[in-house]
Amino acid sequence: MLQNPLISVRPALRLATVAVAAACAFPAGAANPVTWDAIQNDHQTPTDVLSYGMGLKAQRHSPLTQINTETVGAMVPAWSFSFGGEKQRGQEAQALVHDGVIYVTASYSRFFAIDARSGKRLWEYEYRLPDNIRPCCDVVNRGPAIYGDKVFFGTLDAAIVALNKDSGEVVWKKKFGDHKIGYTMTGAPFIVKDQKSGKVLLVHGSSGDEFGVVGWLFARDPDTGEEVWARPMVEGHMGRLNGKDSTITGDAKAPSWPDDPKSPTGKVEAWSHGGGAPWQTASFDIENNMVVIGAGNPAPWNTWKRTKEGDDPRNWDSLFTSGQAYVDASTGELKGFFQHTPNDAWDFSGNNSVVLFEYKDPKSGKLVKASAHADRNGFFFVTDREKLAKGAGYPNKPTSLIGAWPFVDGITWASGFDLKTGKPVEKDNRPQQPKKGADKGESIFVSPPFLGGTNWMPMSFNPDTGLFYIPANHWAMDYWTEHLTYKAGSAYLGQGFRIKKLFDDHVGTFRAIDPKTGKIVWEHKEEFPLWAGTLTTSGNLVFTGTSDGYVKAFDAKNGKELWKFQTGSGVVSVPITWEMDGEQYVGIQSGYGGAVPLWGGDMAELTRQVTQGGSFWAFKLPKQLAAR
Ligand code: CA
Ligand code: CA
Repeated sequence: MLQNPLISVRPALRLATVAVAAACAFPAGAANPVTWDAIQNDHQTPTDVLSYGMGLKAQRHSPLTQINTETVGAMVPAWSFSFGGEKQRGQEAQALVHDGVIYVTASYSRFFAIDARSGKRLWEYEYRLPDNIRPCCDVVNRGPAIYGDKVFFGTLDAAIVALNKDSGEVVWKKKFGDHKIGYTMTGAPFIVKDQKSGKVLLVHGSSGDEFGVVGWLFARDPDTGEEVWARPMVEGHMGRLNGKDSTITGDAKAPSWPDDPKSPTGKVEAWSHGGGAPWQTASFDIENNMVVIGAGNPAPWNTWKRTKEGDDPRNWDSLFTSGQAYVDASTGELKGFFQHTPNDAWDFSGNNSVVLFEYKDPKSGKLVKASAHADRNGFFFVTDREKLAKGAGYPNKPTSLIGAWPFVDGITWASGFDLKTGKPVEKDNRPQQPKKGADKGESIFVSPPFLGGTNWMPMSFNPDTGLFYIPANHWAMDYWTEHLTYKAGSAYLGQGFRIKKLFDDHVGTFRAIDPKTGKIVWEHKEEFPLWAGTLTTSGNLVFTGTSDGYVKAFDAKNGKELWKFQTGSGVVSVPITWEMDGEQYVGIQSGYGGAVPLWGGDMAELTRQVTQGGSFWAFKLPKQLAAR
């Protein structure tokens, strides 16, 4: 049962695709297309939210100060909008705001445009899903992109759709993978501009590592949906540029994957089904013209299937999985890579957000252009993004690693990282193969479990405090190896598991970390797992949501809880803030679901009491306070 919760998520009866006409003929925003300049400046312009990550660097920081540590206690709901229908489950999106309109996606591949002042629906689009989709981790969608007169989002049957932003009508639709064998799309697409050609590109990834498909990153013409380039994330597979074969990912011989002379491809079965899906949203290093994205776990989870018989798994990296990738926006070539978990045996994956930031080196006083990433494997990484753009990280090249510190307690798989080689110092925590005649290997205790020290829910960076805010969890798993063979469309794991508590009094641990030292500056504990993203502001605040239904605001310097509001279902989405008519708003979706109730073992039991929902909440200060 537990090993295959995948099939328990089936779409409800499909209605015909609908685009509900707006009540007024010309909704707000009809005349104002979104320009590249507006997207490039998104982090500095508080009247709109035009990108996942609230800026190209994905820092999720707003300069707004009206809602601050002094005033936030008085914050109240302005309005709430229900996604309606009989489809509920997890609402994991980050909304966008443009010209008085909120654009937000919902579970089961739905899209809503809402009047940001009144909370009234402007239009709704419901994608017609086939009933044989294979999402691993709930029927979620993590949000849209916006550019020109269009909005874009991915669907659970591995397509990407462009809608007219003012009417909700379909402009184009592209299917990019076979959903029957496991391709799907949950992440928000992202707009970048190739700094060489001047072309604006719509960048998105695929999902599906739990079904043994090869993960791809795509760049498209946002006007037509035509593919410009495509990059497979498994070493030795061929990329595409302008409809033709381009370059191979890494080395053509794929030396990080073992050979199998008996196989028709010459490689082990796993290489042909190797995962690495870049399913979370990219950030963009504009100075180096690099699309920066995390790559997913190698498939299958079973480390022995990706190791030469009789050899040590640590000699087989399964590139380019479970790491951060730097892809040239002009050509789609993979330029730089840092692997968080070589030959990942625990489904740690590398997908969590890669946030771009700068800091002064305490020793030399020089400005360092860095990337930060909190991995499911429990370590917080700081890498040199200048080196990565120049090709660091391939085997035998210098590592880009600056620092790697644990951001959760009780990590079982590694004691730290060697800063000279960029490799983990592993503890003896790989699950062993079944003994002869046994149907499974001995169970071992692993923390963090595959659900991660943190997961897809994005952290944020506040340039005022210099701190990162990580929605983390303390938990563990019993973990054992199982036999498996690849079968198209079936779960491809080769591991069994049971998620457990690590500590009695809490699971969630919201933590602030100093990226210069790795020091945990403050923490806030939660009884339930944290599965919502974060937002930080120049009002010295940080926001997130909890699985038991609260939206919460904390003092960014010391972690003191200053405000909370109960939304009626679990919050597993990503907060935003914007300014409108002189008032600051905070927006977030409520609606419990995601991976925890499906895969979470004891944590699924713990959160069973959380009821389903699906709504967008907008908060602001009472008028007289906002006017002060
Ligand atoms: Ca903005
Ligand atoms: Ca995975």
